[in-house]
Amino acid sequence: NADAAMYHTKGSGRNGYHFFEASMNTNAHNQLQLIQDLRHALKHGEFRLHYQPKHNAPDNSIIGVEALLRWQHPTRGLLAPADFIAVAEKTGLIVPIGDWVLDEACRQMREWRDQGYTNWKMSVNLSAVQFTNGHLTDHVAATLKKYELPPQSLMLEVTESTAMQDVEASMTILTELAVLGVDISIDDFGTGYSSLLYLKRLPACELKIDRGFIKNLAQNADDASIVSAIVALGHSLNLNIVAEGVETEKQQALLKSLGCDTLQGYLLGRPMEPSQLMRQMKNAAWLPSGA
Ligand code: C2E
Ligand code: MG
Ligand code: MG
Ligand code: MG
Repeated sequence: NADAAMYHTKGSGRNGYHFFEASMNTNAHNQLQLIQDLRHALKHGEFRLHYQPKHNAPDNSIIGVEALLRWQHPTRGLLAPADFIAVAEKTGLIVPIGDWVLDEACRQMREWRDQGYTNWKMSVNLSAVQFTNGHLTDHVAATLKKYELPPQSLMLEVTESTAMQDVEASMTILTELAVLGVDISIDDFGTGYSSLLYLKRLPACELKIDRGFIKNLAQNADDASIVSAIVALGHSLNLNIVAEGVETEKQQALLKSLGCDTLQGYLLGRPMEPSQLMRQMKNAAWLPSGA
């Protein structure tokens, strides 16, 4: 194994060349360690899901939650997807990890439905690698059956750039999923290069406007124009429009006036452990504020 061999040459000299080599070895070593740790994490149940609410814009009521992956690393603490998703994708480990995410999200949804949250939708993020892997639709169908969930209670979020990577292949898979009855959401919309023709053919129910357009919304008239155009386009195609990354009341008010249907962001609710989300639900402050 080339990476391992590189690692064993570490620390052999003091000149610039060897110094450079040693730092490369450290990177290779870190990657190997991360891959080993990911395998260990899968086997020993170190992954967690946090849930961020999706709010109906007019009254702030919660219409669903998005499952966001976390890793309770034994020495490094709680890690976010940015710390490990790229390596998980490169090694294919994202496929078993993604299977776990879907299973756990559906298990949690079953529990919440049994507690009366029957109108919530569960949104699960999919990676491009899961997409091209042949067993996605079968796995989704089997998992819904396992937890006796109606397909309409599940929404799968695919980024615009993932959906655009191989248009025909995505169309086939998204159509299979839509036929199954699950909802499709196009995440991080506005960062990829969808043609309008393709967008029209996509069997999606929802567009999520990328956080990049929301961030400076209150200061930047161009961003407001873009949001307004996406809302008009999406509504003409019968799509639900979500704004993600809502952090201020000013953004919230603007997004409501621009016609966004659903809002998500730290202002309204952070990603939370299930127990914390349930505590919030029981708290009066969480009820529609009419703000
Ligand atoms: P995403 O699906 O676009 O999720 C939104 C990200 O923005 C999340 O980051 C969320 O915690 C964060 N966020 C939410 N509200 C705000 C806000 O008001 N301000 C700011 N600054 N950020 C906010 P997170 O949890 O780190 O996830 C990052 C990305 O990792 C996700 O982007 C998604 O693409 C990916 N991801 C998360 N969970 C999974 C998973 O289970 N499977 C796969 N394949 N990818 C996942
Ligand atoms: Mg998402
Ligand atoms: Mg997003
Ligand atoms: Mg994103």
